[in-house]
Amino acid sequence: MEDLNTQSESNFRDKISTVDTRGKRKWMYVFQPKGKLYNLRTYFSIGYLVLLFGLPFVKWNGNPLFLFDVTKSKFIFFGQVFLPQDFVLFGIGMLVFLLFVVVFTLIFGRVFCGWACPQTIFLEMVFRKIEYWIEGPANKQQIADAKSWTTEMYVRKTIKHILFFLLSFIIANTLLSYIIGLEELRRIVREPVSMHVLGITILMIFTFAFYAIYAFVREISCIVICPYGRLQGVLLDRNSIVVIYDYLRGEPRNKKRKQTEEKKGDCIDCNMCVNVCPTGIDIRNGTQLECVNCTACIDACNRMMENVGLEPNLIRYGSENDISTGVKPKITYRIKAYSVVLVILCSILVGLLVTRSMFDATILRVAGQVLQENADSTISNLYKIKIVSKSGYTKPYHLELDRNTASIEYVGKNLDSLKSGVESEETFFIKVPKQHITQRKEKIKILIKSGDKIIQTKQITFIGEY
Ligand code: SF4
Ligand code: SF4
Repeated sequence: MEDLNTQSESNFRDKISTVDTRGKRKWMYVFQPKGKLYNLRTYFSIGYLVLLFGLPFVKWNGNPLFLFDVTKSKFIFFGQVFLPQDFVLFGIGMLVFLLFVVVFTLIFGRVFCGWACPQTIFLEMVFRKIEYWIEGPANKQQIADAKSWTTEMYVRKTIKHILFFLLSFIIANTLLSYIIGLEELRRIVREPVSMHVLGITILMIFTFAFYAIYAFVREISCIVICPYGRLQGVLLDRNSIVVIYDYLRGEPRNKKRKQTEEKKGDCIDCNMCVNVCPTGIDIRNGTQLECVNCTACIDACNRMMENVGLEPNLIRYGSENDISTGVKPKITYRIKAYSVVLVILCSILVGLLVTRSMFDATILRVAGQVLQENADSTISNLYKIKIVSKSGYTKPYHLELDRNTASIEYVGKNLDSLKSGVESEETFFIKVPKQHITQRKEKIKILIKSGDKIIQTKQITFIGEY
């Protein structure tokens, strides 16, 4: 990305905007943007938050719509249960996801960060707004923090931090409901703490982590911690659409808006694009890793352009090629190649999903048992079935054989139904009268049935004395 900006100061890449010359954190007092894009982001984030907090309450096929239960290796997407047996699907799904991220970023840059990343949504659309509401605009906050704190300041800050903590608690609960499910979360919250020490501990760890992120860590998450942000250096190219400053139009800057002989640019050097930037960068220096494409600088600059009677979009969505040569963003060979692989992988994934069995069963001969001769002139072999249903419902279940000359005899209680997502097992003998055994290794088919429907057929080898 080094050459993306030709008009920059030379030293801006040598330092982080949020760290001062002594290496200390510079607290970002971010001006609240005003403008069309900020309004759009606000509406979008309302819908986003309604979905995020509401989805754990939605059920499909009797299952939560989404569940990412890493503790039980159980995942639910759109009500469909995926278990460790689906590891091939999971692997291909992950590849599709990663490749999609690559292709999307190549074309649209960090649009996701600015519009749909939960970190940005919560920080800019929830926590920062609460801060403006309680402590006032950014410049007022900065002035107040620089002075010695008054009682009013202490009260305001305390209220803010209590609200931040409560919100973090709600977010932690929501996150946990996506991991362990709403029912389990309800149990943790309602039942005595002593019954759920681990659950409560995890809930509080999440709560403190969110509180720390939104109250203190803030933009450092995007600049330093987030791995997706670090990927930008290799993913973006001159055709990627990013938030970009039109340096050909803006430079040289014309702070005083004086009419001079020399042709001046449209940037009036008001610094508003820097003041509204949550990561504290100056977009006029060119595309930078710190830019989360939040579009706040576009709104700020458009307001300034309107105030001085100039055309908007001095800062806008665009590509480096678009700005430097006027060539609109195009689909490069790199994007085409990635897209072809993505389409192939998607097709495989869809194929696997469509043909996926709702039941996974394994039948094995019990170790150490070859055959057993019985007093009633039959021979029996001992087997164990492990079966799991991914259908979302409790399903009726029983086993049958493909012939009347053999029978099943269960060891202990036999199952009559399968709970969704729970691996069940049972042990049984297959008994065959000696006169019907025609070879030493007989192939017998076991029909796994749910009601009248055969859900799977498994072939086993029956060892007979021949
Ligand atoms: S440079 Fe503009 S788009 Fe990028 S983070 Fe700052 S305000 Fe947002
Ligand atoms: S907001 Fe626009 S006019 Fe003001 S400094 Fe930034 S680019 Fe220049």
